Amino acid sequence: MHPTTASFLGGLRIYKIVLLGEGGVGKSAVTMQFVSHCFLDYHDPTIEDAYQRQAVIDGESGLLDILDTAGQQEFTAMREQYMRSGEGFIIMYSVTDRQSFREASQAKKQIERVRRCDDIPMVLVANKIDLESKREVTTEEGQALAQEFDCAFFETSAALRHFVDDVFHSLVRQIRRKERLGTKSAQKDKKHRKRAGTILQNLFRRQKKTA
Ligand code: GDP
Ligand code: MG
Repeated sequence: MHPTTASFLGGLRIYKIVLLGEGGVGKSAVTMQFVSHCFLDYHDPTIEDAYQRQAVIDGESGLLDILDTAGQQEFTAMREQYMRSGEGFIIMYSVTDRQSFREASQAKKQIERVRRCDDIPMVLVANKIDLESKREVTTEEGQALAQEFDCAFFETSAALRHFVDDVFHSLVRQIRRKERLGTKSAQKDKKHRKRAGTILQNLFRRQKKTA
């Protein structure tokens, strides 16, 4: 079963990205920095919205459709819907908030529950590294969790716009890689099926001749 299929707009491949994480970790701030190059000190924590930005990554253009989620972390029908349609996930916590680090594991579990496959493009992000004096979660702890998740890991600062592009670019690269592998194995399947078909046809022909 393939819950997600590639979609296009005016010839541009659309990459459906979903940002998850506890309220206040900086999901909106990171999204705004990526999309509009600005840092907002305040973003309504209840607003959940999608933002689009065109980007050239490795010489290939694409449209990133980013869902900046908000509100309850509980499992709702809507949450399940966007977890199903997302092609890549950013799980974010804040280095200044240990509880948000624990929440990251919950988000990962929810994605797995919905997708039931282990090849999901994903990035673990530790935000607010500019607040070093308030740090509660070490880099090593983040790296260890990413290893457990088997995904990429970045420490970011939305305030300073540090490593923000890297997060999104890494995710798009993963989605592309997965797509290429999928196409390759689909082509291989087709080849095998064709070959099996030819063998069967030849067998029937031979049987007819000898009959
Ligand atoms: P969200 O609920 O996950 O969308 O979090 P927001 O993006 O609304 O951010 C919550 C608060 O943290 C806001 O006051 C932001 O200005 C602040 N914030 C977000 N990212 C950073 C960061 O990298 N550094 C600092 N110092 N503050 C940040
Ligand atoms: Mg927000």
